[in-house]
Amino acid sequence: MQNIYNYSLIDLEKYFESINEKKFKAKQIYDWLYIKRINDFNLMTNIKKELRQNLKENFKLDFIKITKIQRSPLTNKYLFELLDGNFIEAVLMRHDYGNSICVSSQVGCNMGCKFCESGRLKKVRNLETYEIVEQILLVESDIKERIDSVVIMGIGEPFDNYNNIMNFINIINSPYGTNIGARHITISTCGLIPKIKEFMNCNLQVNLAISLHAPNNTIRNSIMPVNKAYSINELIECLKQYIEKTNRRVTIEYVMLNNVNDSIDNAIELSHLLKGMNVYVNLIPYNETSNIIFEKSNKETILRFYDTLKKNKINVTIRREFGSNIDAACGQLRAKEGEKI
Ligand code: SAH
Repeated sequence: MQNIYNYSLIDLEKYFESINEKKFKAKQIYDWLYIKRINDFNLMTNIKKELRQNLKENFKLDFIKITKIQRSPLTNKYLFELLDGNFIEAVLMRHDYGNSICVSSQVGCNMGCKFCESGRLKKVRNLETYEIVEQILLVESDIKERIDSVVIMGIGEPFDNYNNIMNFINIINSPYGTNIGARHITISTCGLIPKIKEFMNCNLQVNLAISLHAPNNTIRNSIMPVNKAYSINELIECLKQYIEKTNRRVTIEYVMLNNVNDSIDNAIELSHLLKGMNVYVNLIPYNETSNIIFEKSNKETILRFYDTLKKNKINVTIRREFGSNIDAACGQLRAKEGEKI
C-alpha cells in the first residue's frame, strides 16, 4: 500500500479515473491534505462514504515523527524518526523575505565528501517522496506559519534519488497544495553530470546549486571523490550547456576550508574557470564538526577570497552563518543522536 503523500495531483487524478471516479476528486483530496491539513479519510466529509472506504483500503496516511527540535531565534533544527527507525533532519531558517527549509533526500550519503558529516554514514536508502514532503508539513505545523522556499541541501545527494525528488518537487509546487513556487526551490548537487543533463531537459524553473568547493581537479579529487567520476572540466562544460539551454543562473557553492582551497591563487583560478558564465558564487564558512580534521578559513581569508573574485568580475556572496550553534551543519544532529543510541 502506498502512502498518499507520494502522489502528485496528476497521479491521484489517474487513480480516480482508474476506479471510474471523477478526476476532480483528486483536487478535493489535495485540499484536505495540504490546505486543511486533515490526514484522516473519515473526516473528508465531501467525499462519499464508499469512496472513503476505498481510499482507506488503498492508501496509507502515515507520518514520520519529529523526535527532537533545537530552537534558536533564526533557525530551528528538526530531527525526524522514519517509520523504519532511521533518522533524518531538516533545518528551518527565518529570513527577512520568509521562511526557508533545508530538507534531507536520503538516509546517509554515498558521495563521501571528506569534510562532510552526513557522508560518515553511508547511504542506507533513498527517502521516499512522502518522507520529504512530510518534513515540510511537520515543520509548518510546528511553527504555524507557511514555508516559502525549499532547499534540498540536507542529508543525501538529491540527484542520487532523482525520481523521488522530481516527484517531491511536483507535489510541493502544486497550486492546489502547498504551492511553493518553482523559483523558490533549489536543488544542490555535488555534480552528477548525467542527472544534471536530465534535469536540464525538464524545463523547470527550479534553481540549481553546484557544490564545487575547488578550482581544479587536484584539490577537488582530494576532498570530493565524485570528481574522479565527473571531472571539474566536464562539470563546467555541462553547466555551460545547462545555462545555455535553460537561461538560468547557477549557484556555485564553495565551502571555505583553511589551507585547502582558500588561497588567493585558488580564487584567481576559480575566476578563470567561471569567467563569462551566468553563475554566482556562494562562499560558505565551513561549519567545523567534532569528528573531522578540516578547519574553517578565518574571516580575513574569506574576505580576501571574496575581493579577488569581485575584482575578477565574478558575482559572489558570503553565506550568513546560520545555526552552527545548534549543530545545524549537515548531518550533525543525526550524528550526535546516532552516537547516543
Ligand atoms: N549532496 C548535495 C546536497 C547536500 S550537502 C551537495 O553536495 O550539494 C549541502 C551543502 O553543504 C554542500 O555544498 C556541502 O558540500 C556543504 N557542506 C557539507 N558539510 C559542510 C560543513 N560542515 N560546513 C559547511 N558546508 C558543508
